[in-house]
Amino acid sequence: MMKRPFFLCFILLLQIPMFGFAQTQSDFYALYVQAAKDTLSSPFFHGRGYLKDGQKLSAYHIATEFVKIGLKNFNPTPSYYQSFEMPVNIFTQHPTLAFDQDFLTCGIDYLPHPSCPSLQGNYSLLWIDSSHFQDPKKFKSISKKDLRSTFLVMNIPKTVPKGLKEVVDNFRTNPFNAAGFIELEDQLIWGVSTQASQHGILQVKRGKINPEHKELRISITAVHMPNFPNANVLGYIPGKSVKDTFILVTSHYDHLGKIGPHIAFPGANDNASGVATMLGLAHYFSQPEHQPDYSMAFIAFSGEEAGLLGSIHYIRNPIVPFPKTRFVLNLDIMGSEDALTMVNATEQSNAFNLLDSLNKTIGAVAKVKPRGQAANSDHYYFAQLGIPAVFLYTEGSVKGYHSVFDTADKTPMAKAGEIHTLLVQFLNALQSPTWKVQRKVN
Ligand SMILES: [Zn+2]
Repeated sequence: MMKRPFFLCFILLLQIPMFGFAQTQSDFYALYVQAAKDTLSSPFFHGRGYLKDGQKLSAYHIATEFVKIGLKNFNPTPSYYQSFEMPVNIFTQHPTLAFDQDFLTCGIDYLPHPSCPSLQGNYSLLWIDSSHFQDPKKFKSISKKDLRSTFLVMNIPKTVPKGLKEVVDNFRTNPFNAAGFIELEDQLIWGVSTQASQHGILQVKRGKINPEHKELRISITAVHMPNFPNANVLGYIPGKSVKDTFILVTSHYDHLGKIGPHIAFPGANDNASGVATMLGLAHYFSQPEHQPDYSMAFIAFSGEEAGLLGSIHYIRNPIVPFPKTRFVLNLDIMGSEDALTMVNATEQSNAFNLLDSLNKTIGAVAKVKPRGQAANSDHYYFAQLGIPAVFLYTEGSVKGYHSVFDTADKTPMAKAGEIHTLLVQFLNALQSPTWKVQRKVN
């Protein structure tokens, strides 16, 4: 290797601090947000669900972050929690499933439906296809059978003709008392159920079962918890000038949890990414030089995956009175990098135009897209009450929605810094006296 001339070394030495230590605000928050996402989707939090105290640990962690950031709590006692209870169906043991001698892997090859009850034993299999609903003779043949130890393999295409759909949906309510149903899926998507079904429901990847298989051998242990203890986590920064009126930044921290001790749904994109983005904003606005004019509350909702249960509890027990809630920015699925979509943009056109024009100036993401109102995250009931509320999610390379593949390493949050900067500017602009609030009631 060639020896470097002395002066070149000198220049390189001078440059080290510049390369090594100079950090823009956007870079700082990119790392802050990415680290928060990695932490929340780590095995320690068990998929932030209903097994192994996943939710309790996550809530405690977020409250601890709120303390570190310096957020105030609303309660007179030192607590950031808003507690509530909810019913949930949980899977306490590691499940096993085989078709004859072919053992399947839970999470990869099959899933018990979130509402599936406990199942133990061996069952025969009966394949059902569209022809059973089109040919009355074939349908009659099913209705005559004793199906109490039979699982029906539903080999039905995803899209069936309109008239047929109703018949198939009704058949899935189990009028002939089958032991259960096997739904063939191209992609396994899990969820959370507040109810337990009366019969077995299994989601099996297409190709993992074939008509030659004679028998289902299964062991699933499910427990229905009618009063599972849960909590939203809330904190706030007092405003500089308008203390009694709040901007809410929200994101749900719960995910799907675990099936038994080994199968976890890390929920990195859904929604460790949104909570991490929210924590980044809380950190920024809690710096004395960035104190907002309006008060700003940060709410980590729970129970979202079970049907927006945490935000419904908040709506019934509001901490900030609705007339004093200036705007709700809900963040859910913030891990991708290509586009930001705003749900309820049609109602909140001022907010959409603002975000779009800010993005055009700073180029955080390639596109900001508008969408109508939808009941798909925690902004929903705020918006239905006429409170200005939008839901932002990202689109791009991150896949694995509601599966065991929604992991931290597959959710790099490549635009975390840029999106942080964009949202800071957006939240600042919402506080401008010239900003036109679009509010339906008051
Ligand atoms: Zn979500």
